[in-house]
Formats: sequence, C-alpha cells, structure tokens
Amino acid sequence: MTIPVLKQSPALAPQPADPLDHLADALFHRMGADGVYARTALYEAVVERLAALISRHRDDNTEVMRFPPVMSRAQLEKSGYLKSFPNLLGCVCGLHGSERDINDAVRRFDAGGDWTSSLSPADLVLSPAACYPVYPIAASRGPLPVGGLRFDVAADCFRREPSRHLDRLQSFRMREYVCIGTPDDVAAFRERWMDRAQGLARTLGLSFRVDHASDPFFGRVGQIKAVSQKQQALKFELLIPLRSEEQPTACMSFNYHREHFGTTWGITDANGEPAHTGCVAFGMDRLAVALFHTHGTDLARWPVQVREALELAQPAPMIG
Ligand code: ATP
Ligand code: ZN
Ligand code: MG
Repeated sequence: MTIPVLKQSPALAPQPADPLDHLADALFHRMGADGVYARTALYEAVVERLAALISRHRDDNTEVMRFPPVMSRAQLEKSGYLKSFPNLLGCVCGLHGSERDINDAVRRFDAGGDWTSSLSPADLVLSPAACYPVYPIAASRGPLPVGGLRFDVAADCFRREPSRHLDRLQSFRMREYVCIGTPDDVAAFRERWMDRAQGLARTLGLSFRVDHASDPFFGRVGQIKAVSQKQQALKFELLIPLRSEEQPTACMSFNYHREHFGTTWGITDANGEPAHTGCVAFGMDRLAVALFHTHGTDLARWPVQVREALELAQPAPMIG
C-alpha cells in the first residue's frame, strides 16, 4: 500500500492529496504549469516499451505515420472540431504585424505591460487527437481498395483542460490505429481491437473494465450529442480505477465515426459509398501512469509477466 504524501508549499494552503500524487517525484519534473511535465528517464523507458508492445500487436498491411504536435487549422476546422470541443482547442498565435508593431509589443512587455494583445492566430492548431490529419491524406489517394486502409499514427496532443491530476494532462501522447473502409471493415476492426486491447491490459496486470462512453461535447447541445453517441454505441473506453472504482480513468478508447470523415473529406470505399472510419486510441501517458500506480516505481519488482511483456531487462540475480 502506498501512503499519499502531502506536498506543502510555504506560500500555499496544502492541496488535498490525490491518490496519484505519490508518483509525481519518480515520474515527472514540474514545468510551472498544471498538466505539463518533464518526464524522468524511468517514466520514459516505460512509455517506450509500451509503444513497442503496441507496435508488436499491429495488424498486417498497416501504414505507419508519425505526426508533429501541430496541424493545419483549416483541416481541423473542416473536421468539425469547433462544433464539438471548442473549449479544448489550443491555437498557435504569433506576432504577425510589421516590424514596428512587433517592436511595440516587445516594448510594452519590457515596460511591464501586456504584449499578448498583439498576437494573432496562425494557420496552425495544436493537435487535439492523433488521427485528424490522416483522413485528408487518405482522401488524396483516391477511392479505397477492397478491405479499406489501416494506419498506425501518433502525436503529442494538446487539450486545454488544466488539472493537478497526473492522469489529466494538457500535453500528452496519443497512439492510434485507424481503419478507413466499409461499415463492415470498421466493425470488424473495432471488435478485433476491443478484444486485443483487453488482452494487452490483462498481460500488463492492469485491472479494468470496458464500458460505453461519450465524448465530453461542449455546452448544452453537447449533452444531447453525448446521449446520442452512447445510444448508438459509437464509443467505448477501457477504464482503469486509478483514483476510485466510481471515477475510473479512460486509458484507451474505441471510436466509430460512421461516415463523418468519409463525407467531410470525400473518401469513397470500393463500392463508391462514403467511407466509414474508426480508431482505437491509446493514452500513452495514462497507461504509463496506470502501470506505475499498479506495480510501483521499482521496475525490478514488477511482476515477471509484465516485465516480459514489456521486454524490460531481467533483474540482476540476487546473491546470498
Ligand atoms: P476523458 O473522458 O478522460 O476526458 P476523452 O474521452 O477525452 O477522455 P479521447 O478523446 O477518447 O479521451 O482520447 C483518447 C485517449 O487519450 C483517452 O482514452 C486517454 O487515454 C487519452 N487522453 C485523453 N485526454 C487526456 C488527457 N487530458 N491527459 C492524458 N491523456 C488523455
Ligand atoms: Zn482517433
Ligand atoms: Mg477528455
């Protein structure tokens, strides 16, 4: 059993301890903002092994792409993101004025004033999920082959949801497998992955359940969207009880977008119908935190089965 440590800063009243706080020192270095952390070598080693384990489970005929942490603002707008999660989006801004405008902004800052009023949006946003850029790329390839297309994508993602909880970051890593094809292609893909992902979680010694879920759509209209999403069983999550059984943490999600991206980007399947799409998303940081929370911060003491699955080096033999 782990005892939560209350970290006290002299200037601040003590915050109530969260069940994950005891991991902070071993896994992260603070960077002056909630949900944005530098990662220790110990933490990063596990994230890397986890990524390799997920790669070893990749379907055949899957094209690998890695995306930068930013993407085209126009593409994200066209994807409909602002209709669903405008509150979470981070947009790249810059000082785009003349030399004089830019110097004025810097001078205002030097004088203790506000320089940010001179910022204006660039044509980039911070990617809120790893799969958005793949659909326009797939569309540029023309009609889908029989059986559809599969991709393995990843990106550093940003969501403006600051929190002191180590399982809700603003900047986090997402890995996804994506299927673009007929409704049957996508249904088979999602079923296969829901099964495979639970096998992975079991191998990793994580306790979990899989449940229907909805996305946190913004606003009152969003609540109606969420109900409809649940009714249509469009989203499932693999939930791990990190802080409580009642409020488990979603560490993977299994999503069916129906023809949304197919219609948006003009992707047609081999029958000439709008393509359907689905994705399975792995929250790499949440999974790593879940592993440390479950097995502790001493890798040598992790269960043998977990060490083997992650191909962690065997512990040095004990002498005596
Ligand atoms: P939640 O309901 O917890 O906010 P979500 O429904 O927004 O999660 P998805 O949009 O399905 O999550 O994102 C895919 C995966 O990315 C999640 O299952 C989770 O593992 C991870 N993820 C999402 N938001 C965060 C975050 N703020 N910090 C760390 N990981 C995250
Ligand atoms: Zn996705
Ligand atoms: Mg969320």
